[in-house]
Amino acid sequence: MKRIFNKETIQCVDKEVNLCGWVDTVRAHGKIIFIDLRDKSGINQVVFTPKLKSELYELAQKLRPEWVVSIVGKVNKRPEGMINDKIETGEIEIQVMDLEVLSEAKTLPFDIDTDGFNISEEKRLKHRYLDLRRPRLKRNLEMRHKVIQYMRGFLTERDFTEIETPILTKSTPEGARDFLVPSRIGPGKFYALPQSAQQYKQFLMIAGIERYFQVSRCLRDEDPRGDRQAEHTQLDIEMSFVSQEEILELIEELYTKLVKEFFPEKKITKTPFIRMTYKEAMEKYNSDKPDLRKDKNDPNELAFAFITDFPMFEWHEKDKKWGAQHHPFTMPQTDDIEEIKKNPKNILAHQYDFVLNGYEIAGGSLRTINLEIMDAVFEVLGHKKDEIRKQFAHYFEAFGYGVPPHGGIAPGIDRFLAVALNEPNIREVMAFPKTGDNRDLMMDAPSEVTDAQLKELHIRTVKKI
Ligand code: ASP
Repeated sequence: MKRIFNKETIQCVDKEVNLCGWVDTVRAHGKIIFIDLRDKSGINQVVFTPKLKSELYELAQKLRPEWVVSIVGKVNKRPEGMINDKIETGEIEIQVMDLEVLSEAKTLPFDIDTDGFNISEEKRLKHRYLDLRRPRLKRNLEMRHKVIQYMRGFLTERDFTEIETPILTKSTPEGARDFLVPSRIGPGKFYALPQSAQQYKQFLMIAGIERYFQVSRCLRDEDPRGDRQAEHTQLDIEMSFVSQEEILELIEELYTKLVKEFFPEKKITKTPFIRMTYKEAMEKYNSDKPDLRKDKNDPNELAFAFITDFPMFEWHEKDKKWGAQHHPFTMPQTDDIEEIKKNPKNILAHQYDFVLNGYEIAGGSLRTINLEIMDAVFEVLGHKKDEIRKQFAHYFEAFGYGVPPHGGIAPGIDRFLAVALNEPNIREVMAFPKTGDNRDLMMDAPSEVTDAQLKELHIRTVKKI
């Protein structure tokens, strides 16, 4: 008999069904044993009576929470007064005819029927596969899936093409520190994991794709800082022949619809979304990601805002040099090359951030397609023209073959979901997050590798004493 989901049993009254899942709870009322059987779709009350064959009844007596079982049984309407209106299958129960134990379970290291916030995160992350059995986290993963599906559909309807870009790529000075991967075949050479798909998505514009998106992973080897992860997921977008306003309107429409569809209990503070320049935000709120909620105690208020006209450069006091506010590919608001070199601090960029309740949930910009401006920007960032033309040879080469004006944005999916689901941090909306210091406690990563592996990679490690 084909196994069906718990939720499907409501259409099978008086029929025999096969159900599989985990024993959620066990209760005995006199000689009758009840279990709640849990699967992906929900719960069913399952009843074992002493009328069963004796070996089956004895097996039922042994059942413990989290054992995995398969049962065959008849779907019965529950007697009046026994109806449970808290669950979808509350009007029926399953009268067992056959039982098979597929797998037994040890006692779990923590409860999974609570919200889990009282359990230490170390414990939860070490046994994340158990933590994920928790209804709250299951709901978060489901919602994440639905939101991403919706984003895909929304962009597909508007002529966007989803394209995967490489995970093994080249190390270039983009802003953050790269994760490096040694090359076995090229001794002494390294790939870098992408900090974002930025350069590839610009190449796709040169290729004529015009509208690209990707649910992409960004990997940045940054020091632990607040609620950050070494890898996070973006809805990465790039468009050709587009104005800044068109990009912002696309994002505004997407997020307004997402909220209406999946978070109808939420109230958006203002639509069209609040817009203000970086200067205004700094003057009024002393922050480039102001929390613009009217009532900061209201968990159902979403204050979306676009902050525009960022400075092109920011001064890094520690290294005594200029850095790019966003990234070097952003287009300055002037094409006066001398001015860019002479007065970097006065140059504004076609750059915008998307902000929600005090968090930056996306950043984007129009991109420079003029190579002389690009040279000037890199010069301000402290790179010599020859060096940069060598390090970015691929980029400068590509930009010589007919480049459409283009721009994009990359909303972070984790942060939006954490806010929308009222979760205190992004780890609660990720399946397998790492700790604050970038360790995967479940897999025990990072970990040492064998000498043979290192030798193959032409690497010698220096032991820290
Ligand atoms: N690549 C940028 C980022 O990761 C986003 C963009 O400019 O589209 O922040």
